[in-house]
Amino acid sequence: MSEKTPSRPLPETRNAGEKFWKAAAEGSLLVPKCTACARTFWHPRPRCPHCGSNRVDWIKGSGGGTVHTFTVVRQSGDPFFKTRVPYAVAMVELDEGPRMMTNVVDCPVDSVKIGMRVEVVFEAAGENLAIPMFRPAGSAK
Ligand SMILES: [Zn+2]
Repeated sequence: MSEKTPSRPLPETRNAGEKFWKAAAEGSLLVPKCTACARTFWHPRPRCPHCGSNRVDWIKGSGGGTVHTFTVVRQSGDPFFKTRVPYAVAMVELDEGPRMMTNVVDCPVDSVKIGMRVEVVFEAAGENLAIPMFRPAGSAK
């Protein structure tokens, strides 16, 4: 890693989210789902936030979602994120139900709108790590 390229702050990939991050590295978006009450949720955790059951499993998400709300970050004190401004931070409501804090990428930040359809795209962040982000649905790449 060169001095010119600050490293990305990395997510916690162990514990409840381990399976999620493994799947993400393979290009698949998993969503936690409780097998006791059949509801989905985000973020990964050992117990269902709806009913308290520990019967938490995973389903494969469609990768589709809708921007619930967002903001545009135009300044950052973090050495890595400073290189990324301006960028859109969004709450994306997954088609499976839960809302995920993420980024909307591959489009000008001024084109991001509440209600826009988005699809997951994985940004490689080192060996065996990919970070799910979203881009406008139907983007060709
Ligand atoms: Zn439950």
